[in-house]
Amino acid sequence: MHTIIIAVTMAIAELFGALICLKTKDDLKKMFLTCLGLGFGYAIVLTDILPDAAEHYRYAALICMIGILSIYVLDKYGKHIGGYAAVSGIAFHDFCEGAVLTVLGSMVSPLVILAFVLHKIPEGIISFSLLKGIRDRTKFCVLALIPLLIPLGTFIDAPEYIEQPVLAFSSGVILFVISKSLMTIISDNKHLMPKVAGATAMGAILGAVPCLMLM
Ligand SMILES: [Zn+2]
Repeated sequence: MHTIIIAVTMAIAELFGALICLKTKDDLKKMFLTCLGLGFGYAIVLTDILPDAAEHYRYAALICMIGILSIYVLDKYGKHIGGYAAVSGIAFHDFCEGAVLTVLGSMVSPLVILAFVLHKIPEGIISFSLLKGIRDRTKFCVLALIPLLIPLGTFIDAPEYIEQPVLAFSSGVILFVISKSLMTIISDNKHLMPKVAGATAMGAILGAVPCLMLM
């Protein structure tokens, strides 16, 4: 029971992140929010998703590389494929977090619960920033379904030999897509470079703190 409450709170936090993006209408503010989300994204992959994949699994780095290469190739065939693949990776990661909560059970400390919940807000922002080519409202509807995977994950036990390669592959995909999005923003907004860099760095720091608490 305890676990499911945490899982639902995490889902709400992720939805809240997406909602902030939906409600921000100003283009400039939206861009900074995106940079903040992308910075968060780097931090989350490097301090949350990839370490989970690499725990007692020595091929994680190799599979992460394969993830980067595959999406590099796939991305040439469709403008938005990379974004969808990256969000699928985040979705699978949600599912695994639900499963992790069940494993931790009653051992989980209040500080860890706080980190678990808080890091979902940027994950909502990053998912919103990475999905492109559909209307904002449709996007929000898609993103409203993804957090449901967290409570669902608490019921199903994904074996580690499936979980870890998929998480490692997703890390590669997400890293590639974030870097590409960031490069596009920078080349379109050269005059705003210091602010773009500032927002991304701030996102990375804010994202890294709760994730490092989870390690
Ligand atoms: Zn996470």
